Amino acid sequence: MYDINKLREDFPILKKNNLVYLDNASTTQKPNIVIKTINDFYKNFNANVHRGNYDIAEKATAKYENTRKETAKLLNCSSNEIIFTKGTTESINLVASSLADSLLRPGDEVIISEMEHHSNIIPWQLLADKKKINLKYIPISKKGTLQIEELSRLITKKTRLISITHMSNLLGIINPIEDIISIAKNNNILTLIDAAQSISHLDIDVQNLDCDFLVFSGHKFLGPTGVGILYGKYDLLEKMPPFLGGGHMIKEVSMEKSTWGNPPFKFEAGTPNIAPVIGLGEAIKYYNKIHNKELYQYLNTLTNYMIGKLITIPNIQIYPLVKYHDKRKGPIIAFKIKDVHPFDLAKLLGTKGICIRAGHHCTQPILKKFNVTSLNRVSLYYYNTKEEIDLFYKSILDIVKILI
Ligand code: PMP
Repeated sequence: MYDINKLREDFPILKKNNLVYLDNASTTQKPNIVIKTINDFYKNFNANVHRGNYDIAEKATAKYENTRKETAKLLNCSSNEIIFTKGTTESINLVASSLADSLLRPGDEVIISEMEHHSNIIPWQLLADKKKINLKYIPISKKGTLQIEELSRLITKKTRLISITHMSNLLGIINPIEDIISIAKNNNILTLIDAAQSISHLDIDVQNLDCDFLVFSGHKFLGPTGVGILYGKYDLLEKMPPFLGGGHMIKEVSMEKSTWGNPPFKFEAGTPNIAPVIGLGEAIKYYNKIHNKELYQYLNTLTNYMIGKLITIPNIQIYPLVKYHDKRKGPIIAFKIKDVHPFDLAKLLGTKGICIRAGHHCTQPILKKFNVTSLNRVSLYYYNTKEEIDLFYKSILDIVKILI
């Protein structure tokens, strides 16, 4: 049996004020090794990367590039297919902007879904306005699942890209991206997978998946804020124009004209977020060390335990109404208790050191579908325990008694 208490010791914040942290879909806590690595960088070898040839500059560059290698290993691709960005949001904006300047023509279509995080909606809406692209949505059912049978109806000869979330950040639903990618391939359509939530839980092999792009954020994966990943197939990256212009993304600059470096550097203009990138490298190594089937099963069991507790609360509605043992569900649960405002519940739990979320969770189209304006959300991670869930459950019952 996995020693969760030992694992928890790696996360110093969890010991503080008996924190019960159930907002992991928002950002995960960081293990000591990541905190120490960032500290170590600034204390011992802070220098810019890809520029200096003195010792600490070479060390910083080597560590920075090592994260690229670790990420490539994680996703099973080449290092030169990994681009460092600021986060998932920037990665999607990069693809949208660069495709708009190359592949997309007015009248072309991009398909997303009603289940997307706003970060996978807004960049395409901006593009639709700027470039006269048509944006289409795969609908979700009342149960919250994607109506994938609608996809074939939405696709036309003008469809160029399908950009879809792997795991919903509100509902925890895992989408059948393998089927979506296969339909896209058969129709010569590019695919972008938003793996912001799934990266921490599911094994992702971009070659097996055969997606064209895949994106995630370091901070939802034990790493620091300020670093995100864009995976892109090399031949596509080669054809795409740069996103931002500036230092290090060039081959040659003259007063009249400039030429670009090869991917991934073509897409990394200016001084990058060096410390977060190096921190992410350690986060990936740490994840590889702890993550196995047993730990994954532990989290599944914990999620079912949480759902089992929640459904006993009077007048609670869990979104969507999935069965406990549904395999296509991550450790994220959205709910609402009748006559309890989600913000009141989150605030009062917060006063007891229990962190959960309230609001629209950057998924307003889903909330509209369910005819609600705000929901509570709990999201678990490998360091959470049954005892924490028991405390959360008891606290909710106490709070509901006061509020109703
Ligand atoms: N997509 C999904 C599915 C997410 O959960 C999030 C973060 N909640 C994002 C995109 C945006 O990530 P970031 O804010 O790190 O750019």
